[in-house]
Amino acid sequence: MELKYVTTICPYCGTGCGLNLIVMDGKAVGVAPYHRSPVGSGKLCTRGLHAAAALAEWRIEEPLIGGQPVEWDAAIAEAKKIANYQGDEIAVAISSRLTNEAMFLVASFAREILGAANIGIVYGGTGASTAKIVDFGKADVVLLIGDVMKKLPITGNKLYHVQKNGGKLLYLGPQSYTAVQADVVVIADEYTELPTELADAIAAAKNPVVAYLANDAAASAIAARLSAKTAILYDTNNGRAATALGLGSFVLGEKTKALFIITETPEMEEDIYATLMPSLANLELIVAVASNATYISDAATVVLPAAASNEYPGTVTSWEGRVQKVRAASAAPGGAKCPCEIISLLADGKYAWEDKAKIFADLVAAVPAYGQIVYEEIEKPEGAFIKEA
Ligand code: SF4
Repeated sequence: MELKYVTTICPYCGTGCGLNLIVMDGKAVGVAPYHRSPVGSGKLCTRGLHAAAALAEWRIEEPLIGGQPVEWDAAIAEAKKIANYQGDEIAVAISSRLTNEAMFLVASFAREILGAANIGIVYGGTGASTAKIVDFGKADVVLLIGDVMKKLPITGNKLYHVQKNGGKLLYLGPQSYTAVQADVVVIADEYTELPTELADAIAAAKNPVVAYLANDAAASAIAARLSAKTAILYDTNNGRAATALGLGSFVLGEKTKALFIITETPEMEEDIYATLMPSLANLELIVAVASNATYISDAATVVLPAAASNEYPGTVTSWEGRVQKVRAASAAPGGAKCPCEIISLLADGKYAWEDKAKIFADLVAAVPAYGQIVYEEIEKPEGAFIKEA
């Protein structure tokens, strides 16, 4: 029996907590704290404690055409038929749970090879924070809009530093666990304006921060009118990278005939996939790169089975803009391949996929927000930061 700990990043929300996956005979079987992580300092929420399970459930292990197993060559040939469509006939929906490197390759493939006009992320929202976790400890007032602690529990845990240091937590949103923690609370299921008592408190603050979920458009509109640092919180683990890569939210266009979609982790996003289903019925071709079985893989013309988070190496970017290393703890099941390899196969080898440091260097050169980050810096427990917006 071989037992090892693999230090990596939680695959769930955009807080980016470090953790150790416990790997027995090549299979992730559990999670242990990683105390050197400056993000959670060893603390994990319930989802993070069950990160090993994400690698095991409802996996797709072989390529499928029309729901039937086929060889990889046949599946790639079928998937390449998407190039027969052009411009706004092709839509590309990308999971914001891919690594930075995989997301960069998919976006490059969509733009350069497919010439797709409609490219976006399946779920997660957009926005670039100007605050970091340490700013919670320096703020005299933090305004929370929406139930942010439920979606990002360890980020929520850090918000206690506001009160510990004499600052005040304000809350606007529905009745929730987040509301219970706040000093000043305005309960509202919907919001378009900031109530006067909260607006006055922000105006009087020296170092205010406003925190809200990246997919909360109403909160974003309120925050845009305030003079405060913003903590824009993603409840997917790499939504911040999608914003840096210029990927907005995915909306299926009226002219779409063919869809290329990358999905991951069914229990988190299955509701989102379900809402897409009625509009997929009229498509002529659906190519799904999928780690897990979902409504989307059931509906797809061709399914290319992919490795999931922590089955292939790379980096992810937390809501703070902290770039950290994810490591391949266990092998992908059956014939599933690294998403980067799948893109390379579809692009006839135009994109090299094995050297993740090289892909990251290409990303840094192409995406200004990643500035001058050197790959080796990311090895450190604290990672490296992209530029603030
Ligand atoms: S707060 Fe987010 S990143 Fe941290 S353990 Fe929980 S789900 Fe994972």
